[in-house]
Amino acid sequence: MTTTRINTTTVDIRLVYTSHAFAIYLGRISRILKRGYGFEVYTERDNWGHAYSDDGFGAAFKEKATQFGTWKITLDAFGECMPYEDNRVYLTSDVTDKWGQPVLKMDVHYRENETLMRKDAREQAILMLEKAGFSNIDGFDSQAHPGLSIHEMGTARMGTSSKNSVFNKFNQHHLVKNVFCKDGASMTSSPCQNPSLTYMALSARAADYAVRALKRGDIPR
Ligand SMILES: Cc1cc2nc3c(=O)[nH]c(=O)nc-3n(C[C@H](O)[C@H](O)[C@H](O)COP(=O)(O)OP(=O)(O)OC[C@H]3O[C@@H](n4cnc5c(N)ncnc54)[C@H](O)[C@@H]3O)c2cc1C
Repeated sequence: MTTTRINTTTVDIRLVYTSHAFAIYLGRISRILKRGYGFEVYTERDNWGHAYSDDGFGAAFKEKATQFGTWKITLDAFGECMPYEDNRVYLTSDVTDKWGQPVLKMDVHYRENETLMRKDAREQAILMLEKAGFSNIDGFDSQAHPGLSIHEMGTARMGTSSKNSVFNKFNQHHLVKNVFCKDGASMTSSPCQNPSLTYMALSARAADYAVRALKRGDIPR
C-alpha cells in the first residue's frame, strides 16, 4: 500500500465556532493505471487546540477559546500496491535477534505503477481543488516507501498452490492442514480501501470452513 499525503490547501473562510470539521472519502479512481487509488479527505482549522490548557470559564473564555485560524483541507491518497511475486519476507540467519533466532528479512519495493499512481493522484488532487475554487494549493508527494504506510499486508499470501502461496482460498495452510491465517497476512495485494472488514470476512469464512472440515474429519484434532 502506498499512502501519500497529496495536497494541502488553505481557504479563507470565516466560520462561527459551532461549525464542525468534516471528512469525506473519494472512492477508487482508476484511470490509465493498473488498479486504482482513493482519497481520504480531512479538514481542520489552524490552532484548533490552542486553549486546551488555559484556565477560564464563561462567555469571555469561550470567545477566546474559539478564535481559530483558517480552514485547511487535505487529500490523502491511498493507492493499491500490485501483488508482485518477488515482494516477500523470509528468515535469514545472517542477522539474529538477542535470543539467537533468525530475523525477518524484507525484500519489498514499489514499482512503476505505484510511482505513476502517486504522480496521477497528486495531479488529480490539485485539479479537483482548483476546479472547486480553492486557493493556495500546495501539492506534494511524501515519497512513500514500504514500511511507512498504514495498510501494509500480505506476508503469507493465499493462492492456488504451495508453489505460489502459503495459504489456500480458505486461509488454510497448504501443507499443515490445521493452521489457519486470521489476519491481513493472507492478502495478495493491498487495495486502496480500508482493509480490516475484509480480514474479518476472510476470518469468518475460514472459521466456517474449519468447523466443517473438523466435523468431516479432514483436519487432525
Ligand atoms: C494508524 C493506523 C490507522 C489505521 N486505520 C484503519 C482503518 O481505519 N480501517 C482499517 O480497515 N484499517 C486501518 N488500519 C490498518 C489495520 O489496522 C491493519 O491493516 C491491521 O491491524 C492489520 O492486522 P493484522 O492482524 O494483519 O496485523 P497486526 O495488527 O499488525 O498484528 C500483527 C501482530 O503480530 C505481532 N508480531 C509481529 N512480529 C512478531 C513476531 N516476530 N513474533 C510474535 N508476534 C509478532 C505484533 O505484535 C502484532 O500483535 C490502520 C492502521 C494504522 C497503523
